[in-house]
Amino acid sequence: MKKIKAVFLDRDGTIIYEKPGTYIADIKDLKFYKNTITALTQLNKAGFKLFIVSNQSGIGRGYFTKKHVENFNKQMTNNLKPAKIEELAYCPHSPSQKCECRKPKTMLGKTIIKKYNIDVENSYMIGDKKSDIDFGLNLNLTPILVKTANGKHQIKKYGSKIKAVKVAGLKQAVLVIKRGMKK
Ligand SMILES: [Mg+2]
Ligand SMILES: [Zn+2]
Repeated sequence: MKKIKAVFLDRDGTIIYEKPGTYIADIKDLKFYKNTITALTQLNKAGFKLFIVSNQSGIGRGYFTKKHVENFNKQMTNNLKPAKIEELAYCPHSPSQKCECRKPKTMLGKTIIKKYNIDVENSYMIGDKKSDIDFGLNLNLTPILVKTANGKHQIKKYGSKIKAVKVAGLKQAVLVIKRGMKK
């Protein structure tokens, strides 16, 4: 069976604009970074399937409901066209619920990897937080930290504990991935 190459992506602060420390569930706050659609389309063209894995603790904290998140995600994946998101998975829990699906825990990623027969050795995880990077490492994906949203502050806070390639944004992340393909 053919193995699939994938790029896993964080949502808030990576694909869409996030003001650090805020929660996004209202369509009016749906704003892509300048290079998002181009970058994701390029990844599709390079043969990667795209998956979004997102922590949405705003649900567990009672700020909004699953319905809000699902409506938002539907609109977002639609607006991302021509880039194609294969699947979007999210954790609805707050940290205090100690679930198994909140990044850096791997349950959501494991399910997708199994379902799509993903070749982790040639796949990536892109995000703006250490938890995204650790999620990637826990699944043997190559992690890339973007400096958008929380990215810069996370580097300041954790330094070399962030074991990832660090880039300005999605556009540069795509360059890193394309360079990796030539090896
Ligand atoms: Mg994020
Ligand atoms: Zn969870």
